[in-house]
Amino acid sequence: MSKLGAFLSALPAVAKGLAVHSPHDGSVIATLAPDDAKSVAAKVESAKKAQERFATLPRREREKLLEALSAALKSERELLGEIIHREGGKTLKEGVGETDSAADIVLKTIKDATLPEFSGMLRCKERPPVGVVGLITSFNFPIAVAHWSIAPAMLAGNAVVWKPSEKTPLTALAVKKIFDSVAGEHKDLLQIVIGAREVGEALVASEAVDMISATGSVAMGEGIKKTLAQKKNHAVPPILELGGNNGVIISDKMSRAHLEWSLSSIMNSFLGTTGQRCTNTRRLIVHSSQMGAVEEILLRFINDFLQANFSASGFVADNAYGYGPLIDGDALRRFEQAKKQVAEEGGRIVRGARLMESGKGVYVEPALAILPTQSAIMHKETFAPILFIAPYSGSLSDALATLNAPENAGLVAGIYTQSQQEADQFAAHVQAGHALINSPKGTGTPAFGMGFGGNKHSGSGEILNSADPLAAFTRPTHFTRIAQNKDVAMDQ
Ligand code: NAD
Repeated sequence: MSKLGAFLSALPAVAKGLAVHSPHDGSVIATLAPDDAKSVAAKVESAKKAQERFATLPRREREKLLEALSAALKSERELLGEIIHREGGKTLKEGVGETDSAADIVLKTIKDATLPEFSGMLRCKERPPVGVVGLITSFNFPIAVAHWSIAPAMLAGNAVVWKPSEKTPLTALAVKKIFDSVAGEHKDLLQIVIGAREVGEALVASEAVDMISATGSVAMGEGIKKTLAQKKNHAVPPILELGGNNGVIISDKMSRAHLEWSLSSIMNSFLGTTGQRCTNTRRLIVHSSQMGAVEEILLRFINDFLQANFSASGFVADNAYGYGPLIDGDALRRFEQAKKQVAEEGGRIVRGARLMESGKGVYVEPALAILPTQSAIMHKETFAPILFIAPYSGSLSDALATLNAPENAGLVAGIYTQSQQEADQFAAHVQAGHALINSPKGTGTPAFGMGFGGNKHSGSGEILNSADPLAAFTRPTHFTRIAQNKDVAMDQ
């Protein structure tokens, strides 16, 4: 039996529960028993007990556990990549790559983290763990993003109770199995709770959970903030990694060759993971003199892409953009709804048709939405391969005002220009957490070695590649300890 077969057949048999569907053809891969508020509370309690022991270990011991986790993830990269491919719809190559990235971030966190050990000094700054971290993740990065939190949280001495997306829970269950195989007596430090939004709400609401780290839509972030506001134990600020309505300005200050290069860079971040990444380019703000050329070039690129990578039997596996199915029927409905709204707002759609029927799998062409101005639809994050294009006709200030207007435009933004003055003006006024000037991959790879986090409604706090990865997961305390003081008798 294959490793995947063995993993799936070892899952407890459940007749009715949370069905995990394959985005490729809609088939049911597994059915899982969901958690409820009572079982969430029990798992949080187990995590808390494990955490109290774990937090007293020297840092080196905690590092050893995480090093073992990283090595075990690497050695199971094929299995984990296949699970991500099967339940998340990513290409196999992307699934394996994301697993490698999870394993790497664990080691990088150990390397980057500054965590002083108490060394008998009279005065020192200690960084005790917060306690139990509630971790909530989205479907589109089912393993890497979780490890942005698991690594620093555990290195600091916390336990983690993880609620994965209801669309990709098998990856989390596989990670738990791997964790248990290396954690020895510390197994309970990582708990998985299964279910949809209501299970996430129960986790956030638990008074025994000391901090939340959550990745998902802006709506999820708003929901979490409301739940936190109602509980007593909410002193530690949450880490929220939320949606990005990422915009890019295409200036008129560039040659035709630079425009072609710019748009081929944007294709990368437009089509990456079928438009289901937080960093996809979603809006182009184009100088009116370039609108015709932009549409013509992008359409040519899309046609070339489909011709080279799509046939009646589906997309070429591991095509350059990791393009494949949408995650589910809801994603298709949102894509279709966005196309309808574009027409209602005076725009038109280029391509964007349904592609093959494969059971209940959902495959669409990429769509260009050409609008007369940035209207309501461009203020939403449509999590699908649709690129909204609107003109600006005045100066760069007008383009910047349009770029920054949506509240959810706080994750990544970019500009393509050959004017140094425009590049400087963009740098001075852009409001997103990541700003890219003439990037070779559109908005797609902002975090390369740099901290990653959103501004405005796109999030708060940063953990990946943070200069101080443990900051979010510790409560800094300045200690003054009287050591070997003849005036104070201790332990009498
Ligand atoms: P989603 O918001 O539908 O769900 C994310 C997770 O939150 C799921 O586990 C869900 O069950 C849970 N959830 C939803 N509402 C909740 C609530 N009120 N309380 C507690 N838990 C709740 O998002 P999705 O469709 O899985 O993922 C796509 C979204 O995630 C996009 O908006 C994307 O931009 C964003 N994202 C952001 C980043 C980032 O780093 N900024 C990374 C990946 C994805």
